[in-house]
Amino acid sequence: MSKVNLDWESLGFAYQPISQRYVANFKDGKWGKGGLTDNANVVLNECSGILQYCQQVFEGLKAYKTKDGRTVTFRPDQNAKRMVDSAKRIEMPPVPEEMFMEAVDEVVRANKDWIPPFESGGALYLRPYLFATGPVIGVKPSDEYQFRLFGTPVGNYFKNGVKPITVCVADFDRAAPRGTGNIKAGLNYAMSLYPYILAHQNGFDENMYLDPASRTYVEETGGANILFVTKDGTLVTPKSNSILPSITRRSLITIAEDMLGMKVEHRPVKFSEVGDFAEAGLCGTAAVICPVGKIVDRANNKEICLPSGMDEMGPVLTKLYKTLRGIQMCEIEGPKGWIHEVK
Ligand SMILES: *Cc1c(COP(=O)(O)O)cnc(C)c1O
Repeated sequence: MSKVNLDWESLGFAYQPISQRYVANFKDGKWGKGGLTDNANVVLNECSGILQYCQQVFEGLKAYKTKDGRTVTFRPDQNAKRMVDSAKRIEMPPVPEEMFMEAVDEVVRANKDWIPPFESGGALYLRPYLFATGPVIGVKPSDEYQFRLFGTPVGNYFKNGVKPITVCVADFDRAAPRGTGNIKAGLNYAMSLYPYILAHQNGFDENMYLDPASRTYVEETGGANILFVTKDGTLVTPKSNSILPSITRRSLITIAEDMLGMKVEHRPVKFSEVGDFAEAGLCGTAAVICPVGKIVDRANNKEICLPSGMDEMGPVLTKLYKTLRGIQMCEIEGPKGWIHEVK
């Protein structure tokens, strides 16, 4: 395979097909042997479960180069476990954790020339997903499924510098109290697209969703958990059954408590408290932490300007960001088992 020649510095976040992807099929009640393919297309029956009743779950993680030339992924076992939980909730056969881990390693190895160099700050974004292939017309779970995992090279999220964003309180709800907000499923994204486009049309970067039952508590955005820091430096993260358990957020909580000696509160957060916080940010695999400078509640004509401002990330989130990035890049020693080297 020839070394690919991409302009690593100007990569954004867009799909770019690369050499190999992993495919495995579930049929007759069991998983078949998975393997690599160079075929980026999927051929489906017109009545397959994914096309009719939207049985699909997915994950997102990154493989990247460290300064000393190693190729690593960050806590892929947590993605494997979360995809098992997601699959169960919509009656899909979970992908065995060993198969998930094998797929990650095989795809990374087979596409090593597509991993952006360390200096670029980019990564090979990996997208594992599971969907119903078997036909269903009466409403029931499908009998057949496919698990795929592809990679696509992405650029440095902050290549133009870290810039705080403005979020608005969404007029719509993301997830019902006992619904599917806590699993990573495409269906949670389909319904977020309309409010997402609306937010952009109104000049905002993201939507902040409130709890649908009372619309008084903070949940998360369409694709990232929310972090707050109090004026005395406590990390506060919203707790609710309909928030997706972000691996980034859980890792930041561990870092804050065990490495930085910070106080952490993982609890329901009232929207009415938000004006008292010193810093706010979004967290997820894509950016690790993206600072929020302003939160606008249009329905009540209210604008909350975080004291950390619109020019930079606040000091506490910066410290958390640098520590997690340092661990991911193998420049800081993190908790055991967080770094998975692909050899
Ligand atoms: C994927 C996702 C996140 C972030 O999770 P990470 O594991 O940190 O990448 C947050 N919220 C939603 C709704 C998501 O789908």
